[in-house]
Amino acid sequence: MKSFIFPLFLALIGLISSCMKGESVDLIIHNAKVHTMDDSNSIEDAIAIRDGKIIEVGPEREILNRYKADEFIDAGLKEVYPGLTDAHGHIMSYARQMLSVDLVGSRSYNEMLVRIEKYQSKHDRGFIIGRGWDQSRWKDDEMPTNEKLNELFPDIPVCLFRIDGHALLANDYLIEKSDVLNKVMNDNELSSGGYFIYDSLYNFTGVMVDNAMNPILDMLPDFTEKELSDAIMDIQLELLSYGVTGVHEAGLKHNEVKLIQNLIEKDKLHLNIYGMLMPTPENVEFAEKNGIYQKDNLLIRSFKVYADGALGSRGAFLKEAYTDKNEHHGYLTTSLERIKKIAGICESTGYQMNTHAIGDSTNRLILELYEDIYKVNPDHRWRIEHAQIVDPKDFSLFAQAGVFPSVQPSHATSDQLWAFSRLGEHRMEGAYAYNSLLSQFGMIAIGTDFPVEFTDPFLTIHSAVNRKNSENYPGHGFQPEEAITLEQCMRGMTIWAAFAAFQENELGTIEAGKDATIVMFESPVNAPEVYNTNFAYMTFINGKKVYSVE
Ligand SMILES: [Zn+2]
Repeated sequence: MKSFIFPLFLALIGLISSCMKGESVDLIIHNAKVHTMDDSNSIEDAIAIRDGKIIEVGPEREILNRYKADEFIDAGLKEVYPGLTDAHGHIMSYARQMLSVDLVGSRSYNEMLVRIEKYQSKHDRGFIIGRGWDQSRWKDDEMPTNEKLNELFPDIPVCLFRIDGHALLANDYLIEKSDVLNKVMNDNELSSGGYFIYDSLYNFTGVMVDNAMNPILDMLPDFTEKELSDAIMDIQLELLSYGVTGVHEAGLKHNEVKLIQNLIEKDKLHLNIYGMLMPTPENVEFAEKNGIYQKDNLLIRSFKVYADGALGSRGAFLKEAYTDKNEHHGYLTTSLERIKKIAGICESTGYQMNTHAIGDSTNRLILELYEDIYKVNPDHRWRIEHAQIVDPKDFSLFAQAGVFPSVQPSHATSDQLWAFSRLGEHRMEGAYAYNSLLSQFGMIAIGTDFPVEFTDPFLTIHSAVNRKNSENYPGHGFQPEEAITLEQCMRGMTIWAAFAAFQENELGTIEAGKDATIVMFESPVNAPEVYNTNFAYMTFINGKKVYSVE
């Protein structure tokens, strides 16, 4: 009897092990340096992928022995990371910017005019929209006036947005067609959450900031769905070429949600989109009807609230007055009463509340508000977007109320040239303080705020780790004590960004069971003292190759 069973047992073992050796997968990426970004930050050689999921990650021999695959990719020792997420970007604004006159980087008012004339000679849309001027790059940091604009364009509406989208310059032709002049007559800064800018003789300059822009915004024609969709495809390609596979889209209107759904249905948009809804009536209805919404690569479970303006256009709400504008504190762009109402909607729909807060006063107000949700749900993951200027006394509230900081390191190195003049030395301590924020909450989600900044994640790394801009200024780094490490920065763009969207079970690390959303970079990922960008060699979303240099 014994002699009969034993060979059978051996045969069975043999059968099982040969089955195991031959387990089929779709794709094996091997001979790689796989930065898994798991808890122990382990580095492996190979990944087995099936049905869009990671089946196993491990040493070269083990993976190659255990699995047979339809396709093998020899990475030639290139570095592989989880696909990067831009935890705060604006695909829709970027699309519109691409279709408008590009004013980004103009070094003077005159250069801006030249760019507009050039654009207008090529496409006459009957309406000129430009985006991206930044007076802080011009001589004197003076806000522009529309005088020269009126001379050049006396009979066509012209609307030019500042880089941050929080201010615009309109020509008289457009202003006269709008309701702006009525509003200018009754200018009341504090109640409106915005302001008009006048010259020294108290003439209106054509510049409106934050809510003062509303009468013009209501009149702006939009681009066609086809134009926007084509621009979004270009943006997707740009992001994938950097290894960015997901975007936390910071503020969608209802028709924009539909446009994104459409592109996903047509299998054109592959990026993972975590869409924050603008709290419009249609969007509130959407949230109440759908609750947490996930369909394919679109996840909706948050509202975006603009609580104040931006620092560059002096709309950020500060505890003490601006150092460079007498008695001016900035303002809330949404009343506290309305903010509280939206918090109630978030609580009842189970949505996160992601609040744009730049000034120290705004940050304080929102932190206090979030303490309430913490009492009923400590794992709420409600976010503060930017958390740009925080009173050092208030830092501990991030930990105390469980508030997720969502930050954009390239803002620090862009704003360093003028932030000091707005804030004065004493407030700089709590400004762009990413290391302090990280030490409070234990995580930060990292993005770029494109198109306000460039999409390049390697500029984000340079800004976060070296605290220098693309021209490597300043040599010693801007407030270097607030630098974070390369590993922390990569976590901010992978696993911590996933946590900020409740996606940590699907995304953010290279571990068995997660989405095979990964990037293989051309060059090693590091943070050299001198800015040097890098690109994806191949990018995969759910196991599918969506970008390759070849
Ligand atoms: Zn933004």
